[in-house]
Amino acid sequence: MAAKTNIRDILNAARWRDQSLHTLQLTVVHRGAPNDRRSVGGSRIVEIGAGGIALSPTQPGEDGVFLPYHRFLSITTADGATIWDKARGMVGVPSAAPLQATASEPAPGTDVTSGNDVTSGLQVTLPDTEGLLTIDGSAGEGGGQIVRSSLSLSLLTGKPFIIDNIRGKRRKPGLMRQHLTCVRAAAEISDAEVEGAELRSSRLVFRPGKVRGGSYRFDIGSAGATSLVLQTLALPLALADTISDVTVTGGTHAKWAPPYPFLEQAWLPLMRRMGIDAELQLKGAGFYPAGGGRVVLTCQPSAGLLPLTLPRTPGPQAIEVSAVVANLSESVARRELTEAAARLGDTRVKLSSATVRSHGPGNACWLTARGDAATNVFSVIGDKGLSAEEVGAGVVEAYRAWQSSGGVVDEHLADQLMVPVAIAGGGSFTTSALSLHSWTNIEVIAAFTGARLRVERTGDLDRVWL
Ligand code: ATP
Repeated sequence: MAAKTNIRDILNAARWRDQSLHTLQLTVVHRGAPNDRRSVGGSRIVEIGAGGIALSPTQPGEDGVFLPYHRFLSITTADGATIWDKARGMVGVPSAAPLQATASEPAPGTDVTSGNDVTSGLQVTLPDTEGLLTIDGSAGEGGGQIVRSSLSLSLLTGKPFIIDNIRGKRRKPGLMRQHLTCVRAAAEISDAEVEGAELRSSRLVFRPGKVRGGSYRFDIGSAGATSLVLQTLALPLALADTISDVTVTGGTHAKWAPPYPFLEQAWLPLMRRMGIDAELQLKGAGFYPAGGGRVVLTCQPSAGLLPLTLPRTPGPQAIEVSAVVANLSESVARRELTEAAARLGDTRVKLSSATVRSHGPGNACWLTARGDAATNVFSVIGDKGLSAEEVGAGVVEAYRAWQSSGGVVDEHLADQLMVPVAIAGGGSFTTSALSLHSWTNIEVIAAFTGARLRVERTGDLDRVWL
């Protein structure tokens, strides 16, 4: 096993390739008590992220828990064999050889054929007599991104589509508020004909009309991510004939989605480099569960998208760590910054904390790594059960994981750049081994555009190009 194998690779391999996640036992340090060990069954893992995992609640009505990787002590299989421990790292082999990122080995859930062609197992039925693409929303990563990418691509190409089994791999499948807002917003800006635009709907039929720029307001009605709604609409509106301003109300610093600083500092500059003339403004922060944050996107008409070709290596980075709180003591933010700075050691770092207004309490911390090639943002959203020190440590851990990959963009920017690169008809970037989100996105993009992004893997690094 390569020395670089980390907990995340082990868990992802168990989840996507071996389907054995439920058989694993994790031993972890309980929050704030160094000698208090807990055992957690792998079946409780609902998300495997860059800085840690999310566990399902133990009782109905309770919130899930975020568990950072630095609290892991060991991972054992159902028969008690240790496959990873803190002191030694990878010490055994789970049910099948653990995931290795090599040129000849596919990422989880993928199948590499004819050199660089990849598939995520996503089923797309090509146009029927009515010209509709039919997509299986439970395939590949089986979540909301299939819906959002399909909406954007449909608006951009004019192609109608059906998605069945929407978010079929999620604990609560079907359209949730954030996805439903994307559907309604995409329909409104293009006068689309839509069937199935309801909460929890598992089937959507979408026939777009011509995209019209204009002034729009969309309210998610929860703390669902405003960023994901804006990303769905941004390219179609930027390529429309007239100026647009779009206000989206909901969560601005939400888990499992780009927080506002990511959108503004990492995603927007790359969109501008591709020829999009857009601005973002944060009018109010929204945290889970109260929401109520507001973001405004303004875009002038752009003639088209330019290819995005990024250098293969990130080059030197200027590091900044920021933390905000709402309706909480700013000392929480300062503790996060202190912990992050301590973990960055000798790295020069600029720190900033702020108190922001919001409808409810909330906290977010993020590390911005600015380079000439791209800016990356690594964030952790404060949560019950997560100490300020864990939040501060989490952003540094996510940054270090990206840094050691050697890629120019992190895994999130990687999946978010794929639609723009495909619409531009060209581009290339390097990133850490692609997530299942990305592999699935490649399939959705190929179904709508006929353009298949290519992937070349070297060690832990993937180069994506078209
Ligand atoms: P579900 O998975 O429940 O269907 P969803 O629709 O909210 O949920 P996903 O399909 O998982 O979301 O897509 C989430 C998007 O948010 C992806 O583009 C992913 O890269 C991005 N994302 C997740 N976490 C972060 C983060 N910390 N920083 C930036 N982007 C993120």
